Amino acid sequence: MSVLKGRGNLLTIHHSALGSRPTDDRTGGATTNTDSGVAALVATVMDEVADASAVMDWAEDEIARAIRRHSDHADALYHSFGLIRPRDIGPGMGSEFVYRSHAAELLGRVAAGADTRPATAAELCLVCCEASLRTPMHGPTAGVYFRMWLRAFPDRPITPGQADEQVHYEKLYGTQIDDLERTLRQKAADPRRQFRDIDCPGKHYGIRVACRYATTPPVPAPAVVDPAIANGRAAR
Ligand SMILES: [Zn+2]
Repeated sequence: MSVLKGRGNLLTIHHSALGSRPTDDRTGGATTNTDSGVAALVATVMDEVADASAVMDWAEDEIARAIRRHSDHADALYHSFGLIRPRDIGPGMGSEFVYRSHAAELLGRVAAGADTRPATAAELCLVCCEASLRTPMHGPTAGVYFRMWLRAFPDRPITPGQADEQVHYEKLYGTQIDDLERTLRQKAADPRRQFRDIDCPGKHYGIRVACRYATTPPVPAPAVVDPAIANGRAAR
């Protein structure tokens, strides 16, 4: 229950942060919209307490989508399953829309050959949620949070007018938001989230494929063998 209670608090703080934006001259309607948005999101989070098999299904589905978008990198994307494990970064990572956004961003980086360690926009939203519990957000800090939210969840704005409001934030604090985003992506990075130690048997989904990670076929015995080793083997 504490998770859900915390979640409600987080979302309430989104509301107050939005209300404090410097250009806000509309109050009544925006408040109502925000409240219903908060209620909808709390309901979503309560509904979406994922079990492990659901998360695996989402991961496989995001990989399949990424392969359709970037077929040239199908092999790397196939082997990205370990990279897109949900990160233990806050209760929101168990929500389908949060997880899918996180996974899709990482898979996009795999296809682009980019660094997979820096935090994703979805992760930064969760980090900002936690931070907003301790310190009310305003100015560039609120700007980076809302920018990350729009990037991670463009179909789920916190308020119907969020995209318009973001224009004001970007105009007032754009450079500071850029700097803060860069810093936060590094600070919240996962240093272990890297592509390595991939051992591919040369088959994906049971089908033989050309994969850059396929283990090299067994090579014939080296032409030059250390005589001591050779003798030792012969003696056994
Ligand atoms: Zn492979």
